[in-house]
Amino acid sequence: MNALRDIVRAPIRLLPNRVWRMYSGGAMIGLMQGAGGRTDTEFPEEWVGSSVQARNPGSHFRAGEGLALFSPGQGDPVTLKSALEAFPAEMLGPSHVREFGTNAALLVKLLDAAVRLMVHAHPSKKFAAEHLGSCFGKTEAWFVLGTRPDQEDPFVLIAFREEVSRGRFRAMIDAQDVDSMIGVLHRVPVRAGDVVYVRAGLPHAIGGGVFMVELQEPTDYSIMLERRAPNYTFSAKESFLGLDQSLTLSVIDHRVYSAEDIARELLIRPRLVRSEGESAEVELLGYDTTECFAGRRLTVRGSLAGDTEGRYCLLVVLEGEGSMNHAGGETRLVRGMELFVPASVGTHEFRSREGLVMFKSLPARITGKEPVQGA
Ligand SMILES: [Zn+2]
Repeated sequence: MNALRDIVRAPIRLLPNRVWRMYSGGAMIGLMQGAGGRTDTEFPEEWVGSSVQARNPGSHFRAGEGLALFSPGQGDPVTLKSALEAFPAEMLGPSHVREFGTNAALLVKLLDAAVRLMVHAHPSKKFAAEHLGSCFGKTEAWFVLGTRPDQEDPFVLIAFREEVSRGRFRAMIDAQDVDSMIGVLHRVPVRAGDVVYVRAGLPHAIGGGVFMVELQEPTDYSIMLERRAPNYTFSAKESFLGLDQSLTLSVIDHRVYSAEDIARELLIRPRLVRSEGESAEVELLGYDTTECFAGRRLTVRGSLAGDTEGRYCLLVVLEGEGSMNHAGGETRLVRGMELFVPASVGTHEFRSREGLVMFKSLPARITGKEPVQGA
C-alpha cells in the first residue's frame, strides 16, 4: 500500500466498472467509452468511483460487484475503497473524514436504460438509520445526457399526481397492477440537459431510451413496487428490503404534487458558477437542493483553473479531449474516461484546444454536525 502514497496525490484513472442489473441497456455507455460493449446487455449501469457493493438479488449477487478498481503503476488492480481506507485524509480530505469517516458519501452511475425501469422507491436516511443499520438512505438525482433517437417521447415517472391512500396503493402493489401504479404518477417528458431531483420516498421510474448520470447516496437499497423486471422477478421479501411490507411502505411519500410543484421542486435549473473566456463551470444541482451531493458541468475551451478545496470529486469526460495539469504532472483526458480526483490534488488547470465537457460529482455536504456513525 505504501507505493500508493504518491499515486493518491494525483488524479486516479478508474477502470470501467459495469454492474449487472435486472434490465437491459448500456449501449450508450459503450458508445461514449469508445471501446466495445456498444450493444445492450444485462450490464446497463457503469458505477463511477463506487465504494458500494451492488445488492443484486438471489443468485445474481456477486461479492465485490460495484466496487471501482484502478491500476496503481504496473501493479494489479486494487479497489478505490481500499485506497480511501489506507489514505483517507489525502483522498477524501480531513473535513470529509471528520464527518463521514472513510465512506465516500456518494454513488455516481452512468445509467442507460433500453427499456422502462420498474416503478420503485428508496428509503430515507431516517428509515435507513432506524431499520437498515445505515446512516445513508438513497436520495438521488438524474442528469439526462441524451435520449435514444428511436424513443419518441422520452419520459420519467415521479411522485403522485392524485390522492392515493396507503390502502389503495398497497392493493395495486399486491395485485401488481402496474398500469394503475403508472397511472397515478406524473409522467414528465425529459431531454438532454434536464435535471430531476428524486427525494427519498418518492415513487419513480425511468422511461426507456434515457441515458443519464445518476447521483445517489452511497447505498443500493431499492423498494421494488413493481416486482417483475425483464431479467428477474423479485420475491415479496426481496422487494421490501427484507422487512415487513407495511413498515417498508411507510417510507413512501404520498404527498400529491401538482405539475407546478414538480417544476418548482423537482426539476432543477442550472446556475453559472464561474467562467473564464470560453470555459465555464455550471452547477446543475447544488447543496441548496440537497445536502446529499452536487453535480456540475465543466466546459473547457482554452483553459479553466480549478481547486479541490479540500474535498474529492469524480470526473467523467462526456465529450472531447484535453488535459488536467496539477502539481504531480499532467493527466490526459479523453471522452469516456473516469477520474477520482483526491482532495490533496489542490489547485489544477484544465486545458483543451478542441473542447472538453466533463461531469463533476461532489459528495455529501460538510454540515459540521455530529460525525456520522456506522458509515
Ligand atoms: Zn431509483
